[in-house]
Amino acid sequence: MLILAHFSVPFYSYYLTDRLLKKYKDKKELFLYSCVVGLAGLTPDIFRAHLTLSSRYNAFSHTAFAPLIALVVSVLAVFFLQIPKRFLFWIPVAVTTHLLLDAVIRRY
Ligand SMILES: [Zn+2]
Repeated sequence: MLILAHFSVPFYSYYLTDRLLKKYKDKKELFLYSCVVGLAGLTPDIFRAHLTLSSRYNAFSHTAFAPLIALVVSVLAVFFLQIPKRFLFWIPVAVTTHLLLDAVIRRY
């Protein structure tokens, strides 16, 4: 269930924000980009899944460096893959959302 939250919170944040700002006329493109942001929210667990609280605290992908690394990766992706520049904001936000959800939900 937490994996679903890690995906859906950034997904719907991006989706609803762009729907409100009316950036996209093509809904498939909006859905695809929302999935990219949602998957970015899952990346800390993809690199180091955690089943216990102690393994979460020991994972490098769950430190404050993770949003910075996400920012560097998104800068490289914007320049080399020609993706929209708004991902410079949304991918680090998705990773930060993951870390905040892990901090709030202490069960896993
Ligand atoms: Zn996590």
